Amino acid sequence: MRMKYITVIGLEVHAELSTKTKIYCSCKNSFGSEVNSNCCPNCTGMPGSLPTLNEKVVEYAIRMGYATNCTINPVCKADRKNYFYPDLPKAYQISQFDIPLCEHGYIDAVVDEEGNTKRVGITRIHIEEDAGKLIHSESFSGSLVDLNRCGVPLIEIVSEPDLRSAHEAKAYLDSIRAILQYLDISDCKMQEGSIRCDVNVSVMPEGATEFGTRCEMKNVNGFSAVERAIEYEARRQIEVLEAGGTISQETRRWDDLAGKNYLLRSKEDAQDYRYFPEPDLGAIVVPEELLEELRATIPELPGHKLLRYMKETGLPFFDANLLCENPDKADYFERCLALGRCQPKAVSNWLLGDVSRILNEKNKTLADTKLTPEKLCDMIALIEKKTISNTAGKTVLEEIIWSDKTPDDVVKEKGLAQISDTGALEAVVRSVIDANEKVVNDYRGGKTNALGFLVGQCMRQSKGQGNPAVIRELLEKALG
Ligand SMILES: [Zn+2]
Repeated sequence: MRMKYITVIGLEVHAELSTKTKIYCSCKNSFGSEVNSNCCPNCTGMPGSLPTLNEKVVEYAIRMGYATNCTINPVCKADRKNYFYPDLPKAYQISQFDIPLCEHGYIDAVVDEEGNTKRVGITRIHIEEDAGKLIHSESFSGSLVDLNRCGVPLIEIVSEPDLRSAHEAKAYLDSIRAILQYLDISDCKMQEGSIRCDVNVSVMPEGATEFGTRCEMKNVNGFSAVERAIEYEARRQIEVLEAGGTISQETRRWDDLAGKNYLLRSKEDAQDYRYFPEPDLGAIVVPEELLEELRATIPELPGHKLLRYMKETGLPFFDANLLCENPDKADYFERCLALGRCQPKAVSNWLLGDVSRILNEKNKTLADTKLTPEKLCDMIALIEKKTISNTAGKTVLEEIIWSDKTPDDVVKEKGLAQISDTGALEAVVRSVIDANEKVVNDYRGGKTNALGFLVGQCMRQSKGQGNPAVIRELLEKALG
């Protein structure tokens, strides 16, 4: 009988911070500049140039620490991690070794649509510098190097091996990304490599008390690639064990296109890097007042907000999750609710439906529009009071979103008010019945779905302004 295995996963997330300048020099921190244009003697590793710490990097990292329930070490230091690679001209990276800026935290990642959460321990968050980028091309032999990324500030967020499935890993990464976005400390652009992930995987037989030997996959790009990489690696390890083999500690390269990984090297240990305190930088000391100030900047975080929306407004996970995706959208939603003019589900439907569609078509955000929460809610209230139809609501939205007009202005201007007056609608119903003898006979002969067609005809004749419920009632009365 095959044994059952448990997969154990730990993640190291590298997130580029969106500070204006690099971590140890005043070069611009921006993606997509001309190659080797954001460089100076310091970030290209020229002998004799000295690093100066960008304090913003420390502040951003501390905010991430508070947002993930970490203890902040007010006194810490930078350390040299020595290794050679052509994208690292200094042959060392300034990182943090034994005293990270933040440690012993956790986040509660939402793992399913019922709003259940999984607590994932955060071992540490430290600051470090990024390396450059090698450029390979088929048009020349050898490789080129772009050093613009050297010295771009990173935080490395190391999780405890608390994750047990690819799905949980994805949920954890989604939470990390959402927190970074809410704190506005990273642009989180996966396609530009702003978030990269090292994945540690081991397996152990069910009931075992000790973890198996783990393998690491470096720089897996994209969260769904992380899921695929975990599933592949767990399967590979189980197959090795089932065949009587043992797992050796290795670094493997994930090839997402091929859906496989390959052995890169047997895993290095910390001692291979010969860490030592960075002699060109002093201790990092964060004053108590600054810590307090930074702690006070932490907003309500997306996971908490999501669960609160589900609980307080009864919104399903799908809606609540989309609303919380971006702090501006969530803020807008809450301003609408605070007005108390319409149902939360109606606000959510409009925001996630037609409003998002219009914004996407024009590649704009809510801030670019003239759609105040007041105007949106007034429009929805007109539908809820049956003054206008849902279809007319869409027409109103298209106008009020870009202009100073109120929903009432547009309803008047375009004559969109719904006709619920039975006197006016009776004439419409009469003429539709007269013009559709065959359908009317079908209906009387028992084809009840013929009624829908007749309602549609009446709506058309009233130019969409007839109240469909009233029309249906009148039709039923006339034909009954
Ligand atoms: Zn520089």
